[in-house]
Amino acid sequence: MEDVLGKPKKSVIDDAMAIQKAVSLVKLGARLQVLQSELPGLSRDRLLSVYKEIRGSSPPKGQLPFSTDWFLNWAPNTHSSLFMGIMNQLSERNPGMEAVDLLVAGYTLYLQTVKAIDNPAILSMTRAWRLYRFCAAGVLTTHQCESCKAKFIVDPYDLNTGYQCVFCDMDTRVGPKVDFEKKMYQELDWAEDQAA
Ligand SMILES: [Zn+2]
Repeated sequence: MEDVLGKPKKSVIDDAMAIQKAVSLVKLGARLQVLQSELPGLSRDRLLSVYKEIRGSSPPKGQLPFSTDWFLNWAPNTHSSLFMGIMNQLSERNPGMEAVDLLVAGYTLYLQTVKAIDNPAILSMTRAWRLYRFCAAGVLTTHQCESCKAKFIVDPYDLNTGYQCVFCDMDTRVGPKVDFEKKMYQELDWAEDQAA
C-alpha cells in the first residue's frame, strides 16, 4: 500500500504487532541489540521505550559476547543443542513463520522444557538468539552423534568422521566446571551480559 507521495504506507496493525513482538522478546530477557536486529521496522527510540517500560531501567551498554566457544562447552552445549532441536522442529512444521516469532516460540518452549527437568536455564534469550544467528550463517551447525544418534551443536570446522557428542565423548571440550545446584552458568551468563 502507498500514500499520495508514493511512499509505502505503514500499517497501524503491523506496527502494533511489531510492538507486541518487542514486548515478548524483552519479557524473555532479550537485549536491545536483539530487538534492533529482529524488528528493523521499529526505531531504536521506540524499542528503547518498550525496553525501559518493561524492565524499569535502561539496557546495559556495549557489545554482546561474540565467541562461538561458549556453545561448545559441556553444559552450554547440551542446552544449545536442545534449543536448536526445538527451533529446527518449529521451522520445519511452520515453514512460513518469521524468525522473530520462531525465537519467541522456541525460547518459550526451551524454558518450559528445562523447568520440567528441573534444570537452570543456562541459555539466556540473548545467547539463544546469538546461537540461532550463528546457525543461520553456518558458523555453527547441528550434527548427529555417531554413538547415541542425537543431534548436537558443533563447529563445522571441528567435524571429523565418527563424531561423538559431549555425552558420549567425555574428553572433548570439558569446559568450566558445572554446578547445577548453584545455577552457576546462569549467574556467569548474566554477569557476562552485564559486563559486556
Ligand atoms: Zn552421543
